[in-house]
Amino acid sequence: MTYYADLSPYEYTESQPAMLNVGWLDEVHPYVTGAAPEGLLEALVVLGRGAENVLRGMHFCELCPDFQTARDSMYRGDLFIASGEIRVTGNGVVYASPVMIVHYVEAHAYMPPDEYCRAAMAAVMVD
Ligand SMILES: [Zn+2]
Repeated sequence: MTYYADLSPYEYTESQPAMLNVGWLDEVHPYVTGAAPEGLLEALVVLGRGAENVLRGMHFCELCPDFQTARDSMYRGDLFIASGEIRVTGNGVVYASPVMIVHYVEAHAYMPPDEYCRAAMAAVMVD
């Protein structure tokens, strides 16, 4: 998967409001880790179920220790996470994340930017 730094501009559209990348991790670039705020994982799962099917192919987690583990991580329960994008609206912008952000948070202690966490949890509460 292509790496994008957190909160960098999303390159694929010139949409308004602006879209920002969050959670486009790879095995090369360091990422912030920490204990996810309570409710974040559940919110991302809900958002993942409504993910947009952006056809940018399927990808495997590059943070898993081996390919078999990554293969086993293509689903979280019945949620397919190896494709598609989550869109989170908040703070006057739209955040674009791979659905695999669910796995990054759960399995690799990835800590998204605070503003993203709050927007994701707020989006689920409103819905
Ligand atoms: Zn992984």
